Amino acid sequence: MKNSVLLLSLFLICGAGWSQQSKNKADIDAKVSELLSKMTLEEKVGQMTQITVTIFEDTKKPGYFDAAKLKQGIQDYHIGSILNVPNPGAPTLKRWQETMTAITNEANKTRLKIPVLYGIDAIHGASYTAGATLFPQQIGLAATFNTALVKRGAEISAYETRASSIPWVFSPDLDFPRNPAWSRMWESFGEDAYLSSKMAVALVDGFEGNNNVGSKYSVASCMKHYIGYGSTTTGKDRTPSIIPERILRQYDLTIYQAAIKAGAKSVMVSSGEINGTPVHASKHLITDILKNELGFQGVVVTDWKDIIYLNTRHKVAETKRDAVRIAVMAGIDMSMVPEEFSFYTDLVDLVKKGEVPMSRIDDAVTRILRMKYELNLFQNTVADLKDYPKFGSAEHIQEAYNTAAESITLLKNKDAVLPLNKTEKILVTGATANSMKYLNGGWSYNWQGENSDTYAADKSTILEAFQNKLGKKNVLYTAGADLEKEDDAEIQKAVDLAKNASKIVLCLGEKNYTETPGDISDIYITKPQIKLALALSKLNKPIILVLNEGRPRLISDFEDKMSAVVQCYLPGNEGGRALVDILYGDINPNGRLPYNYPRYPNSLEKYNRKYTESISEGEQNNDATYEKSYLPQFEFGTGLSYTTFLYSNLKIDKKEINNTDEINVSVDVTNSGKRAGKESVLLYLSDNFASITPEFKSLKRFEKISLEPNETKTVKFTLNQKDLQFVNEDLKWISEKGTFTVQIANQKTDFLLK
Ligand code: BGC
Repeated sequence: MKNSVLLLSLFLICGAGWSQQSKNKADIDAKVSELLSKMTLEEKVGQMTQITVTIFEDTKKPGYFDAAKLKQGIQDYHIGSILNVPNPGAPTLKRWQETMTAITNEANKTRLKIPVLYGIDAIHGASYTAGATLFPQQIGLAATFNTALVKRGAEISAYETRASSIPWVFSPDLDFPRNPAWSRMWESFGEDAYLSSKMAVALVDGFEGNNNVGSKYSVASCMKHYIGYGSTTTGKDRTPSIIPERILRQYDLTIYQAAIKAGAKSVMVSSGEINGTPVHASKHLITDILKNELGFQGVVVTDWKDIIYLNTRHKVAETKRDAVRIAVMAGIDMSMVPEEFSFYTDLVDLVKKGEVPMSRIDDAVTRILRMKYELNLFQNTVADLKDYPKFGSAEHIQEAYNTAAESITLLKNKDAVLPLNKTEKILVTGATANSMKYLNGGWSYNWQGENSDTYAADKSTILEAFQNKLGKKNVLYTAGADLEKEDDAEIQKAVDLAKNASKIVLCLGEKNYTETPGDISDIYITKPQIKLALALSKLNKPIILVLNEGRPRLISDFEDKMSAVVQCYLPGNEGGRALVDILYGDINPNGRLPYNYPRYPNSLEKYNRKYTESISEGEQNNDATYEKSYLPQFEFGTGLSYTTFLYSNLKIDKKEINNTDEINVSVDVTNSGKRAGKESVLLYLSDNFASITPEFKSLKRFEKISLEPNETKTVKFTLNQKDLQFVNEDLKWISEKGTFTVQIANQKTDFLLK
């Protein structure tokens, strides 16, 4: 009885919540229609125009508006959106407040007083605001395998972004990189579509406050870059991809589907082309699939200048004007023009001449206005700083530290060389040891992130974190190598200093970069760094290699000479501290690699490869003349701990299922070592035979657990029919009868789909 009362009340509460939501939606729809009916063509097209803030600046006073320019943009061109960070980068909260006040005041002088929607690349915290809490970059978030932690980080990021009076972030990045050399690998969640989907949902929920985007602590998210952007054949930014639609649907699209289901309010289109069609020109991808098939109701914004590039780069439009027609007819709602007003002028003309129908404009503007209402911008665009006492607070910093600590991944620990002992004399060396630029990477304070050392001067580099822990005089240090320039004298200095140390912490990695400036033609880690590693290895002292990089730069020239390898990705402002706490065992590492770390430049297989990608594998073929091609340096999912975990008792509740059954899986995990630790339990599934060649295995579930020494936990998962399916040649998701293998660590069991 009690239960039914409880159920009834729950039903009523949920029902009430649901009807309130529908009412809000109906209210907003009514307001949008009313406003739209009052708008002129020019006002509508203005809403679709997004301009970069820097073009409104006073040339003599960077970072401040030239009132006449701002007036022209907002009053004459009716622009609906502004993006980007003012010069010279990362304003304070107060400056952001003044900037947004100026924009709002100008918008309030227009006929309809429609608020301007400001968008920003806050991709690892409110990274364009001075003093904000900076988290690890997305690749590190994936390595935590902890969606609750990642969601909490996004909530903080939303809070600090709204504190900066900005309601819209160009995040999460849902790219699915197929070439690890790609310069934006680190902006993604790595190589697995399931992990990426789960992380995408965590970020969308965190940013948007679980569908409560109107709150003053939430922001609208923007999934990017739809679609196939991270799959370039060359590995270089913004270059073409070849992706069969079957593959696109099986992997890339599933990530967007999950984020759309979570309520993501907007999407940014990929600057690339797929199979010869620039995505900005693809009605099939934008209107037919995204808007119609997936039912996406939010705003579709272009990437930087990408309509113009249809003319100047991709050469599918003979004029800029025709590029506007193609993109708008493909389904674009807003153009990140962003440095002039040609989009506005051309589109007004195209509509007047009947080349773009008003219905298409109304669809775009409806979406934009809806987002503005949902964000409550008509009530308020400027933050009251009193509402944000936790901006950059110790509490937020602690969360960023925890996230960095859970991302850092121990890949190798020969003879338990780690954790270090505080009494040992340590040499810290390497090009990335002493700069915040390398810990933060791009999109930090400004586009390429070159000013992190100034903005994050109070944060600890890796070297400073060592010095704070051990006392400055107890740490030996020299840079040892530059990232690019050869310097034999520096190498010699490191070798000489190393003679006085018992262990060497060698910090190697990459410069700060994003987009095309990060393109490389050689995926090996740079030569001066290899030279330093080899020189130090001749001393026969234990070397702990710390990798601080956005993508896996090959280390196979010297990895066998390293005693330990720790991947810290781009761990953000608290990363130096978290890393050193891990190296000394104050934190037990628990990150796991979200991609295969390649060993050779011509062997870039993914963990979920096809059997035929390594012919000798699985054939009982021990012919020594074949080199097994699948031999990554470290495999997806690798991540060691200072304790050990034993897996046992893998059970499934059914050995045979029909095509509606779920299947329950359980496994026991025991901490068999001496320290408490966290462990990500990863469940893989293999479809043993299928009409489209099956994957070797693919990740279907994961859960992170904590275990005290000697403690055992039973971890339970439920697999459903969707987990058994793949996309067939007719582009349909299907499953086929036959056996499947469930694998968790070293445990395996089979079941049959009848
Ligand atoms: C990038 C996007 C970014 C946009 C706005 C583009 O160049 O590709 O990821 O959101 O600029 O800054």
